[in-house]
Amino acid sequence: MSKKTLPFGKEKLEEIIETYPTPFHIYDEKAIVENARALKAAFSWNKGFHEYFAVKAAPNPFLMKILKAEGFGADCSSLPELMLAEEIGVVGEDIMFTSNDTPADEMIKAKKLGAIINLDDISHIEFLEKSAGLPELVCFRYNPGELKEGNAIIGNPTDAKYGFTKEQLFEGYKMLKDKGVKRFGIHTMVASNELNPIYFIETAEILFNLVVEISNELDITFEFVNIGGGIGIPYKPEDNAVDLNIAGQGIKDAYERIIENSGLPELRLYMECGRMVTGPYGYLVNTVRHIKETYKTFIGLDGCMADLMRPALYGAYHHITVAGKEDQPAECTYDVTGSLCENNDKFAIDRKLPAIEIDDLIVIHDAGAHGHAMGFNYNGKLRSAELLLRTDGSVVEIRRAETEADYFATLDFRALKNFPITMEK
Ligand SMILES: *Cc1c(COP(=O)(O)O)cnc(C)c1O
Repeated sequence: MSKKTLPFGKEKLEEIIETYPTPFHIYDEKAIVENARALKAAFSWNKGFHEYFAVKAAPNPFLMKILKAEGFGADCSSLPELMLAEEIGVVGEDIMFTSNDTPADEMIKAKKLGAIINLDDISHIEFLEKSAGLPELVCFRYNPGELKEGNAIIGNPTDAKYGFTKEQLFEGYKMLKDKGVKRFGIHTMVASNELNPIYFIETAEILFNLVVEISNELDITFEFVNIGGGIGIPYKPEDNAVDLNIAGQGIKDAYERIIENSGLPELRLYMECGRMVTGPYGYLVNTVRHIKETYKTFIGLDGCMADLMRPALYGAYHHITVAGKEDQPAECTYDVTGSLCENNDKFAIDRKLPAIEIDDLIVIHDAGAHGHAMGFNYNGKLRSAELLLRTDGSVVEIRRAETEADYFATLDFRALKNFPITMEK
């Protein structure tokens, strides 16, 4: 069971709203830092342990700067994500560039920053060599295919577009060795939002065994194993968070059994978690605008699926708290909706909640990853602000809300004025 509590009460929210109107995302700095420390502690047995925060989960440089101070690097997969990392001074091997279908300019930027380039396909060896030149250190992403079952978000590994087959790994590392590459890493990631710690132990075992096999066959030395992200979060109150110490201890045992026993040199363990780093510590705060009674009762919020699309996209559950009514019984049934002209713009369907009134503050939990980040402008919706609840209780805006001017910024209205209609009547 996970406790679904808020780091602020209704009064605090009302005070925040005087400056920053709803809807907004707000992140809890203290909780983010405490969780980051717990993750590091669980893997501290590995001297080279390093977490690369998957920037896509919450691409806000203020959050990234907090994580940098905790020693986290950045896992990037696009040029703007690389630029965000550079902006906060995360460069060199503190960047893991795990991309796919990658354009040449991104390879060039990653190489320039000295990032660890994690190739998604064997054909990308030549692509990288021709576009940016081969760096001294190269990593491959492995796709275990039928060896491992995926889960709902990523799907079956054999259907997944990511990574090398096992045969391609041997061939690829041999090609690198022949081309003079001296430093090697290996990566895999085949699940997302996984709550079973055993899963991560098995993933590490697969990579440790591959390292032994490939090292022996090709006579190359691996420096690190990157087990990817995918640690889930307890979205539902009845879910349990991944016990990081079970995962950490299990991977340690596998490391001793497989790597230490093989007599290979020490390996650094890398992770690139995103969701679990910020997800549970971000909240989407909305105000009730309308209450509509037809065949059902609909609560209309000022926030919509452009602020958090996971429920509409995956049918995902996000817990909801009505601020100030935490202790009232959940005896009413509501569809909690936004204003987008899409009937799936619903944060919750048939959700039991305390009786709701207009102007109530509705807080949606676990919006700190893939929340604001997945925002979009369809239907003329503007993206909300992002706020940070600091450790001293103060609140700062770490990204302002979009305005209509932002929405129109890519249009040229002057050109429109002089725009002739060419099709004659
Ligand atoms: C999304 C992603 C991650 C982070 O996954 P989480 O489930 O957020 O931990 C890590 N690596 C890659 C390559 C990704 O695409």
